[in-house]
Amino acid sequence: MRNLISEIKTKLDQSVTIKGRLISKRELGSISFLEIQDFTGICQFVTEDKSLISLIESIHPQSILEVEGKAVSDPKGNPEIHLESINVINAVKETPGIDLQSKEPKEKLETILSHRAISLRHPKYQDIFKVEAAIIQSYREFMTDFGATEFFSPLILASSSEGGAEIFELEYFDSKATLAQSAQLYKQIMVGVYERVFGLSKCFRAENSNTRRHVTEATQLEFEMGFIESIDDILEVETNAIKYILEKVYSKCEKELDRLKARRLMVPEGTFPKLTFDEACGILDEKFKIDTEGWDDLTTESERLLCEYAREEFNSDFIFVTNFKKAAFYAYRDKEGMIHNVDLLCKEMEISSGGRRFDSYDDLKMSIVAEGMDPQDFSEYLSIFKFGMPPHGGFGIGFERLVMLITGQDNIRECILFPSDPKRIASQNIK
Ligand code: ATP
Repeated sequence: MRNLISEIKTKLDQSVTIKGRLISKRELGSISFLEIQDFTGICQFVTEDKSLISLIESIHPQSILEVEGKAVSDPKGNPEIHLESINVINAVKETPGIDLQSKEPKEKLETILSHRAISLRHPKYQDIFKVEAAIIQSYREFMTDFGATEFFSPLILASSSEGGAEIFELEYFDSKATLAQSAQLYKQIMVGVYERVFGLSKCFRAENSNTRRHVTEATQLEFEMGFIESIDDILEVETNAIKYILEKVYSKCEKELDRLKARRLMVPEGTFPKLTFDEACGILDEKFKIDTEGWDDLTTESERLLCEYAREEFNSDFIFVTNFKKAAFYAYRDKEGMIHNVDLLCKEMEISSGGRRFDSYDDLKMSIVAEGMDPQDFSEYLSIFKFGMPPHGGFGIGFERLVMLITGQDNIRECILFPSDPKRIASQNIK
């Protein structure tokens, strides 16, 4: 019967059978040490037996083993196993292209990504993707407790979801299709069904952006709710969702985050601080001497400075900027022409976009026409507004950017199992 590494401490002085992967081996005088990992942890195995030592010499790290031995406590009180037998289930015969035993990967990101299937076994990536799994679990928990229903939106679309040029086209039998740029229209449709909805949605962006925070296939933590009074309702839910995720992940993944040397993010009491776009420009002008005359959006540098301002002024790594001067066609504009949209910035990056949406059929149709698009292409979406939609709004958080922030990584590609960007598809180079 198989024993798990996590239960060894309860089996002291007993014989145990462990099945797992050989992580490392070393010799000290006449003693041989092995480290074996299963899905519950890593344990050290020790032997002075000459025939076992000579067998160990022939076994390469990463081999899959079944070992038997007696569980004991090492001088520091940690459980270890005195080896009695080793059965090699699957032997490794080569050395992988990535050093899986170094504390920090030694190879460049380029090399790491081109050996992605194996580099994911490095402790650094095991830690990052454990944290990622905990983030998504806590987002689901938060949203489910908030009464939101999870939905999945289609990724193959007949026309683009938001218009614009950043669209991947593909052959679809005898016609053309596009890959979804966002779940925006579908999540609004789902508000018409369940009032509060959330989803983990893929989005595809055909933008030739070779930055540390852009990829062509990304994931968004989507949320949308009905019967909002103003965008402040959205800001509150988003703040609470992020605080919940941080609290859960910081307690559940303490060891992983410590090993990754991830600085914990600063969150203030209450809702994250917010500035309107005009206020943000005022601060950039006065405090940072940046000429924002004529701006309708923030630059990367100005996002960095506003994050610096939020840390100094509010002890917060997060800051909302509301009421931008430009927005997608579905963004709600009031009678004064003010757009009710919002971005969340954190540590030099935009990590989410959101806002209130139009809920009147006529306003929306006019907005589609004003953008030079054909309402006919949106007929399915537009139909929901003929049949009653509450005032509504929501947000989409860039999931991989959130993983970057929480795990303290500088490049989004570190936080995606198989990243695609203008130079790679699913981590493999195409140029
Ligand atoms: P950016 O200005 O950074 O290119 P965006 O304004 O195009 O982002 P949205 O369409 O509003 O972004 O998407 C919502 C969120 O999804 C963003 O705030 C960001 O966190 C994430 N996101 C958007 N595009 C990408 C991308 N190409 N790669 C990774 N994440 C992205």
